Amino acid sequence: MKLVKRGKRIKVWLFLYTVLFVFGCSEDGLKRDEARLVKSGKATEKMRLFTIDDSSDSLFLRQPTRKIEKESINSKLITLLRKRMLATVTDVDNEGVGIAAPQVGVGVKLILVQRFDKEGEPIEPYFNPEIKMYGDSVNAGFEGCLSVPRYRGSVSRSQNIEVSYLDSMGKKQREEINGFVAVIFQHEIDHLSGVMYFDHVFGGYDALLPYNEE
Ligand SMILES: [Zn+2]
Repeated sequence: MKLVKRGKRIKVWLFLYTVLFVFGCSEDGLKRDEARLVKSGKATEKMRLFTIDDSSDSLFLRQPTRKIEKESINSKLITLLRKRMLATVTDVDNEGVGIAAPQVGVGVKLILVQRFDKEGEPIEPYFNPEIKMYGDSVNAGFEGCLSVPRYRGSVSRSQNIEVSYLDSMGKKQREEINGFVAVIFQHEIDHLSGVMYFDHVFGGYDALLPYNEE
């Protein structure tokens, strides 16, 4: 009797796992609706930006994100996501210096950062980035965010950090980053844990300033 019962239980679990696998997750760590969103356009087409003006976008932006497996970094789907994030952050009508995957509705640990400290100032992808060390030197500077239209606010950030990440070849890297680029990394990595820059502003969102005024 016990064996039969256990067999039944195993069948039920197998069934549940299959349902979860088919409907919950997905390709390359993306959920089905996320994969659909990414595949809805070509590599050169920007994606819709999730902004705090919309209540369901806002909830999504507050969610923690999932790691990307090393094996998925160069998959078709993640490559398409990376290219479409690039098209979004370089949109001439709404340009940014960095973007994180949750801002286009995909809850994974991928950010793009413009490297003003490199020749030609390229925008580069970083997978599963983490800040390993914050330096002592802190400066306040104005920040804006593609997900927070019309406003900006002054945030205190470390001027030097050490970051670990997987590069576009899937190789683990550790790098010291300074100045404004260090600020961009902190802002984008915050997005991966659902943190918005105005969480660091005294008074929060209500204390932000309109973008065009001093
Ligand atoms: Zn942002």
